[in-house]
Amino acid sequence: MDEQMDLLPCGYFVLTSEWEFVEMNKTMREILRLDKMPRHMHDVLTVPSKVYFQTYFVPSISMHQEIREMYLNFKVVNRTLPVLMNVSKRNGLYEGIVVPITVRDEYENQLLKSKKEAEKIQQQTDEAYNKLLGLLEEVEYKQQQLQDLNGELQELATRDELTGLYNRRVFRRNLDAAINRAELFMTRSFSLLMFDIDHFKTVNDTHGHLVGDDVLREVARKLKYKIYSPHLVARIGGEEFAVLFDDPNHQKNCERAEELRCYIEKSEWNSIGITVSMGITNFRKGDQSSHIYGRADDAQYASKRNGRNCLTRI
Ligand code: GH3
Ligand code: MG
Ligand code: MG
Repeated sequence: MDEQMDLLPCGYFVLTSEWEFVEMNKTMREILRLDKMPRHMHDVLTVPSKVYFQTYFVPSISMHQEIREMYLNFKVVNRTLPVLMNVSKRNGLYEGIVVPITVRDEYENQLLKSKKEAEKIQQQTDEAYNKLLGLLEEVEYKQQQLQDLNGELQELATRDELTGLYNRRVFRRNLDAAINRAELFMTRSFSLLMFDIDHFKTVNDTHGHLVGDDVLREVARKLKYKIYSPHLVARIGGEEFAVLFDDPNHQKNCERAEELRCYIEKSEWNSIGITVSMGITNFRKGDQSSHIYGRADDAQYASKRNGRNCLTRI
């Protein structure tokens, strides 16, 4: 073999159709780290490459007369050397060249490792993200629970336990708000009704406290039935109630109050006669809550003095 062929920058060889070497350049021997040319192609291949050679290379070259960029592993001094091989059939023999690809192989291995690491990080990120979603859902659920509890607390703080009507605190707050509104817009004037059950002590004394409680609940039920939003009904004391009529028509509010009084008087109470004494007044410019409250209270006491079961307007 001439010097140029011997020193090609790739391994060059010629094989018989039985895959025995007939020629090999110096570069090829150097790649294989051999002084002498080996006998057979099998002698230089690793076991898996031998299998690959027989099952892929042999049938493929007999069909296409050439093979391009075939990836094989040579066995070189008990180590594996990855190579790319091109082989062509010429004059009944097979000519081939070989290029070692150690660098590319290492690079690919590194790439594979990096890809695996990236996949692992991605998986960890996904897991953390799912965990975070779970936590967020839990936080939302807890927040909802807290909101519900706050709602319940709010409800408890505003309602009278026995009757379910608004309590005195809510009544005072709404009275102040109604005064502020009416002071700004006369069209938002309102009326305040207060009433007290007549001789309620006698009901308790005669029929017992539990029946007294039933009567209070029943009065509340009738109140809710007759008067509703936008008007506000509250229990402001033992057997005392108040209504804020959110209507500037005072005459109409007085009629509503009188209707309520009659409704209570005429209701069936299981033989107990229940009546109420009422006092009503309307908002006047410059009123503070004590003024309007005082007038309604005075009106209610006037009804008591005048024989009870009636409505007094001041
Ligand atoms: P008047 O016609 O002058 O209003 O007489 P009254 O007996 O209704 O008034 P008084 O103030 O003398 O008595 C009110 C009674 O209401 C006394 C109290 O025991 C009773 N009372 C207050 N709160 C409750 C309650 O929640 N349940 C029951 N059963 N009784 C109550
Ligand atoms: Mg009373
Ligand atoms: Mg009373």
